[in-house]
Amino acid sequence: MKIAMIGTGYVGLVSGVCFSDFGHEVVCVDKDPGKIGRLERGEVPIYEPGLDQLMLKNVEAGRLSFTMDLEKAVQGADAVFIAVGTPTRRGDGHADLTYVMAAAEEIAKVARDYVVVVTKSTVPVGTNRQVKQTIRKANPDLDFDVASNPEFLREGAAIEDFMKPDRVVVGVQNDRAAEVMAEIYRPLYLRDFPIVTTDLESAEMIKYAANAFLATKITFINEIAALCERVGGDVKEVARGIGLDGRIGNKFLHAGPGYGGSCFPKDTKALARIGQDHAVPMQITETVIKVNEEIKRRMIDKLLDLCGGSFNGKTIAVLGVTFKPNTDDMRDAPSLTIVPALVGGGAKVRVVDPQGRHEGEALLPGAHWMDDAYKAAKNADLLVLLTEWNEFRALDLKKLAKRMAAPRMADLRNVYAPKDAKRAGFEAYESIGRAPML
Ligand code: NAD
Repeated sequence: MKIAMIGTGYVGLVSGVCFSDFGHEVVCVDKDPGKIGRLERGEVPIYEPGLDQLMLKNVEAGRLSFTMDLEKAVQGADAVFIAVGTPTRRGDGHADLTYVMAAAEEIAKVARDYVVVVTKSTVPVGTNRQVKQTIRKANPDLDFDVASNPEFLREGAAIEDFMKPDRVVVGVQNDRAAEVMAEIYRPLYLRDFPIVTTDLESAEMIKYAANAFLATKITFINEIAALCERVGGDVKEVARGIGLDGRIGNKFLHAGPGYGGSCFPKDTKALARIGQDHAVPMQITETVIKVNEEIKRRMIDKLLDLCGGSFNGKTIAVLGVTFKPNTDDMRDAPSLTIVPALVGGGAKVRVVDPQGRHEGEALLPGAHWMDDAYKAAKNADLLVLLTEWNEFRALDLKKLAKRMAAPRMADLRNVYAPKDAKRAGFEAYESIGRAPML
């Protein structure tokens, strides 16, 4: 199959590379000349484990190329995927569909033969029909179908998720489009995975419902964690105890500093907004959004307590600022709430992150970037473990404690055990949903 992929961000690039690895001929398009320039030079503009090798392999095989020329990419394509951003629209919480509609119009202007226009971006119910109208209006004679194919990959494990999905969701209006979509995903059939073929609206709704559900699960355990801190109990044990129940499942039950990232915050807000607009308030999702904000603020209070009530003049080392490990993505990361609060409170903030600096430097003004946790801990008053990168999971706690002016740690990912922190010489250690060390 010949595929054009519009947008070479986290989703578009991974999807394009993986489709080419299936054997399809893929042309990836972006309007950002910097991104296309880097891709043409064989550089991956984002950090995603394994993506560089897979990309080079398929470029060398002649199946994958990059261009800014949308017309060239769309000519002869069996399917054109729209994988552009759908950020929160300023002011009202809705998903901003400007980029999706602009891409649809651009496709319509250059497409000549039958093509399936597939929306991979996360979009509200009704958007695919809008895409169809936009194309119809711009090119009334074009023979085409639309399809909704929401993406469920996780940054940091994107290739594995794309190659071994739990399911593929495809929303279509007829068999012709369904056949093209089935052919695109056919190489995956070697593995047993369900392809959920639905109408357009169900496919669109599945994506928002999935993300809102996952955000709810995380927020639920975070709230239980807060209660454990007051009444006793270890949230890790509680999560294990409930997660072994097959009806609940053990995933997404790790208590932490609140969810962030490029999807959950914006998708929960968009779902809540859609509900309000249609007089069916999404009360659970609305509460999740509110509670998640409170959780992030509660983290600041925790740090404040560890600093004796004031950040002023304190030296604080923050380990990890990306919204999760194995990505350079900083969008809506908890660090964007926490670090400014520390800097604003008068602390000297040192930041260490294996991949976050490129994006994070501009987003965290006043923070001093360092490349090593031990150096950052030197003479510090507090160590905050904020993102659980592998390199922060087996730190020599004794060595860290020795270097600090005041050996105190806030382990906001529950990586370490309170007793180990105590044994290593920490005078205070706070985590999430577990009794403090002292
Ligand atoms: P992104 O911001 O990383 O990438 C979007 C890219 O599209 C940018 O490079 C931009 O330059 C390009 N673009 C915009 N308009 C264009 C146009 N008209 N022509 C060519 N290129 C254009 O976004 P992302 O994180 O990849 O997300 C894309 C969509 O996928 C969003 O709707 C998001 O909600 C959804 N999604 C994201 C993830 C994730 O983990 N990031 C997971 C599942 C779904």
